[in-house]
Order: sequence, then structure tokens, then C-alpha cells
Amino acid sequence: MQASRIHASLRALSVCPQCGAIGVRLNRQSGMCPRCTEEAHVAEERAFNELLHREAEGCEEGPEIEAARREYARLRQQNSRLMRKYGLKGKRERE
Ligand SMILES: [Zn+2]
Repeated sequence: MQASRIHASLRALSVCPQCGAIGVRLNRQSGMCPRCTEEAHVAEERAFNELLHREAEGCEEGPEIEAARREYARLRQQNSRLMRKYGLKGKRERE
């Protein structure tokens, strides 16, 4: 009888799918134990933090800015060459 009671209670015990802890209260949303749930929260927020850092840095430096600068210089040079060659009006003269 005791064995069946133990068996029954063992069956009712929940297992955390992340760390394998037995008999823990599982978070209804995450399905994991409180510790794994909080650790997952931290990992998620840290990843988001890194993403934000990368995005913020991308506005100040990075290959996109260098590419845009090069393209700007290239087009300006090309336009000034065209204006000189064909005697066309520049941007300021057109306003
Ligand atoms: Zn866990």
C-alpha cells in the first residue's frame, strides 16, 4: 500500500524539462521550474540587450556607413564630371 502510494505520488510529480528537477512547481507559461524560468528570462533579456547595443553602434560606425560614404563620394564625383562636361547646372543653381 505504501509502495502504491509512493508510485502514485511519483507519477504526480512534475519534472522540469530544462534541468530535470523532480517535484518542482512548473511555471504555467514557460513549463519550466522557477529557476530555469528566471534563467531563461535573463538569457532572453541579455540577447535583447546585445541586439540593442549592436543596433545603436550601427548608427555611429560600421560597414553600412562606410559604404554610404563611398557611394556619396562616387556619385558627387560623377555628377560634377557630368556638369563640367556638358555645362549643366549644379544643385544650387537650380533652386
Ligand atoms: Zn528547471
